[in-house]
Amino acid sequence: MSRVFLSRCPDYDHGSMKKIIAGGLAGIGFDPREFRGKRVALKPNLLMPSKPERAIVTHPAFVGAVAGIVTENGGHPVIIESPAMTALAGTLKKSDYMDVIERQGIEVADVAETMVLFYKGSRRYKRFEISRALDGVDIIINLPKFKTHGITYVTGAVKNLFGTIPGLDKSKWHMKASTPADFSEFLLDLNEALLHGFEKRKRILHVMDAIVTQEKDGPGPSGTPKKIGAVIIGESSVAVDCVAVQVAGLDIEKVHTITGGFRRNLGVDSAENIEVIGEQIEALAVHDFIPTTHSFMTSFGARWPANTAFFKNMFTEKPVPEEGNCTLCYQCRIICPAGAIGDSDGKKKVPVYDYQKCIRCYCCKEICPKAAISLKRGRLQWVLAF
Ligand code: SF4
Ligand code: SF4
Repeated sequence: MSRVFLSRCPDYDHGSMKKIIAGGLAGIGFDPREFRGKRVALKPNLLMPSKPERAIVTHPAFVGAVAGIVTENGGHPVIIESPAMTALAGTLKKSDYMDVIERQGIEVADVAETMVLFYKGSRRYKRFEISRALDGVDIIINLPKFKTHGITYVTGAVKNLFGTIPGLDKSKWHMKASTPADFSEFLLDLNEALLHGFEKRKRILHVMDAIVTQEKDGPGPSGTPKKIGAVIIGESSVAVDCVAVQVAGLDIEKVHTITGGFRRNLGVDSAENIEVIGEQIEALAVHDFIPTTHSFMTSFGARWPANTAFFKNMFTEKPVPEEGNCTLCYQCRIICPAGAIGDSDGKKKVPVYDYQKCIRCYCCKEICPKAAISLKRGRLQWVLAF
């Protein structure tokens, strides 16, 4: 049985969040005195520089509340995060983190140096190059923001640990694990490696910011902020995500990181074996949360014919940059793991996409600062919809 703490939390008020989070940690059996004399990694979601009200990044006040609990109990909080496209220092500044960092005395780790984390017990992927800074901490507090996601349906505790892989190296993983199902298995392997792969095992706590989340086209600038007003805490990333998905009124069967996590018993093996303490899911459930618009051909898996360009062009949405919104910044081209994006041909002021090469990872859409990329249905999707 995995225990998950769920609490109502109407806003980002420092005092009330701190009280709720401290209560939640105690509720799942964590004694805050464990922080004493320890280096404690704080791993927020800092996808890109963004104002907190857009609900793309973990709210800085949320991170500040957790850091406050760590310092008050004699621990030393260190932010360890590596945005895909931008330097951490600039991202923290533009996402309004500096005030909290200074006030709470939070160290910001240098994430440039990497190390190899090898865990032979992982199912498919066993070797990961992660930020070396993680090796020097005793406890990791994962601070995900709950949002919809184009590949994994939602992003929460399991997916947020993807940020332990530095910068643009993340996009290489999209190429290696190029279908939603495969990518989800990779994320679960990474979660297991972080739990068991270090020489000295680290305790990982998951404290989720589900106060203002993102619905529709998350997790980047195309997503829409949606208030859920919840804090969710647990020691199993899969169990925390499972509770969050149910609070949002979504179907856990659509979240491969949850169903796959149950299959490998990553802290929990079914929704029935999660003991929810604090408030019950029904009390906080929202009934009008709008899921992502992506179609998810996940059931076809990573094998032929699902991995062919023909299949993808027929059955999955393609990312299409729109003239007018696009500023030709080419961040999409930099992040594209498939090399499917080229310069504008001059006829239209947008990058040129090669849909034979595109693997439908939707990184370009996620990262586009102008929300200039929309999704167009595949040819047979129109027929099926009709
Ligand atoms: S589509 Fe977006 S990311 Fe790509 S060039 Fe245009 S504005 Fe930049
Ligand atoms: S074009 Fe966009 S969706 Fe296609 S592979 Fe490149 S980044 Fe991924």
